Amino acid sequence: MSVAKQFRTISGAFLDVFYPNVCQICSTDLNMNEHHVCLSCAYDLPYIGQNKKELQKLEKLFWGRAKVEHVYSLLNYQRGNQTQKLLHLLKYKQKKKLGQYFGEVLAEVITESENIQAILPVPLHPKKEKLRGYNQSRVIADGIASKTNIPVNSTCLFRNSHNLSQTKFSKYDRWDNVRQIFSVKQNKELENKHVLLVDDVLTTGATIEACILELLKIKNCTVSIATLAARI
Ligand SMILES: [Zn+2]
Repeated sequence: MSVAKQFRTISGAFLDVFYPNVCQICSTDLNMNEHHVCLSCAYDLPYIGQNKKELQKLEKLFWGRAKVEHVYSLLNYQRGNQTQKLLHLLKYKQKKKLGQYFGEVLAEVITESENIQAILPVPLHPKKEKLRGYNQSRVIADGIASKTNIPVNSTCLFRNSHNLSQTKFSKYDRWDNVRQIFSVKQNKELENKHVLLVDDVLTTGATIEACILELLKIKNCTVSIATLAARI
């Protein structure tokens, strides 16, 4: 870890101790019953939650691409909205606890009857994870696991190579870019299992699709998806 990064981590921890908790969206002080965001901001978030129509739209995104059992997503993501702000904090501002907390909230919309047996975070490239210090999808997965007691498996699905930044590419190029960057090892661990693939945000679905296509090569493995946010 670089000195600058170490300093940022230490000073962040210091600030957490000496300053009261504030809402991550509007910066007002939080009371004892509020976690990470104040009640007013939490109330105003654009929830997808259990809106069947919106969830169906997300499931349709994978039609003809990869077989998906169910798609769960908590928040509607649009450029400039509060969801984007939360994702930015989770990915670039070291707000791991925020991600874990929203993972716990996301767990509440996942149907228990689905009988999911393993939670798989979409892997980051090791270089990127080292730089960030964590994988944000793993943080969300841990939040879901803490509420559901379903184990997290972060070893079977892994990333083969560093893909270029996706932002500069068209949808078609993006797919070309992410195809075959994931592989699965220790397949036996996931045989005959319904797994929940977890990512921070669902937009074109290209990254998630690439993961699913690998997972579906495993004998009798079925896949559902849970993301903290989705662009609808
Ligand atoms: Zn607030």
